[in-house]
Amino acid sequence: MLKVGVIGTGNIGTDHVRRIASSVAGASIVAVFDVDTDRAAAVGAEVGAVAHSRAADVIEDPAVDAVIVASPGDTHAELALACLQADKPLLCEKPLATTSAAALEVVAAEAALGRRLIQVGFMRRYDSGYRLVKTAIDDGTIGAPLLAHCIHRNASAPPGFTSEMSMTDSVVHEIDVARWLFGAEIVAATAVPTRPSPLAPPGMRDPQLVLFELANGSVVEVESFVGCQYGYDVRCEVVGSTGTVSLDTPGINTILGGAGQVRPVAADWRVRFADAYRVELQDWVDAVRSGELRGPDGWDGYAATAVAESCVESLRSGERTVVRLTDRPKLYS
Ligand code: NAP
Repeated sequence: MLKVGVIGTGNIGTDHVRRIASSVAGASIVAVFDVDTDRAAAVGAEVGAVAHSRAADVIEDPAVDAVIVASPGDTHAELALACLQADKPLLCEKPLATTSAAALEVVAAEAALGRRLIQVGFMRRYDSGYRLVKTAIDDGTIGAPLLAHCIHRNASAPPGFTSEMSMTDSVVHEIDVARWLFGAEIVAATAVPTRPSPLAPPGMRDPQLVLFELANGSVVEVESFVGCQYGYDVRCEVVGSTGTVSLDTPGINTILGGAGQVRPVAADWRVRFADAYRVELQDWVDAVRSGELRGPDGWDGYAATAVAESCVESLRSGERTVVRLTDRPKLYS
């Protein structure tokens, strides 16, 4: 059994704790920490895990083999460095870090160790719909992939959500999807000015449109609409030289009749990607136990943060922004 410690027992941390306890084989949760100590104690008690009083105690606990980092993004880099120092594998929720400089520091520390310990929580790579899109590209079904149209809509955003966070928290998933599907880095980002929804908070640009240029010449267009009102709706169509492949709202029937056509949509990301999170966790547990991580790596985390930074820069400047990545360390080739 892989003994897992979890730092951050909010929304996704608690979901991960419960998923590992109920539907992932080969692992158990043995320790938790959250700055909200009552919350950590309650979640820990559900699964028989000890609630520590510091994040470092989870990482250094000799009973903990591997760590899940699910605290707020601005804590991730420091916690990832501590896990590397303790030589413990970690599943770090996105983002790996909130700045590309901090992400690079983490990547450099892992590269210096010379072996992979980090997986970043880009769970869409484990979604059955996205996997079918990836297969259709990789096996040549649609010819050469040329373009993609991506949609990422949330019914509503939490209070205080900003135009910048739409890039760093929502579009960041599309950034990873684009790099992964096309197998190429994003080299430039352009945030296109859009007409804000009258329902958007004052000063918030919502919806947003971003254009990504990839190193192989492909272009990916992303709509992020965090206040679309009607539900959580994620789509993607890749246009190839001989065909297209679309990820529509999957597993959902179209109802004809009654008030017309009705297509129920997931309420939120928890519902839409529930199975992807389970598959992601199972794959991570299996990979850690086998000693060879294979999911999204530290470099993917760094590149995603660097591109998100360029999106924010383009949002502010109104200009096309070139993405500058450092040289990829050998560990990630
Ligand atoms: P959340 O509900 O706010 O949970 C975060 C928890 O961490 C809260 O209980 C928070 O306590 C606690 N915390 C704050 N500072 C901490 C620290 N220094 N050490 C340990 N715990 C600390 O947030 P969330 O929605 O679960 O998001 C957590 C992370 O997961 C974020 O990075 C987010 O981007 C990522 N995420 C990823 C996905 C995905 O699809 N992959 C989905 C959702 C979230 P307080 O509330 O008292 O501050």
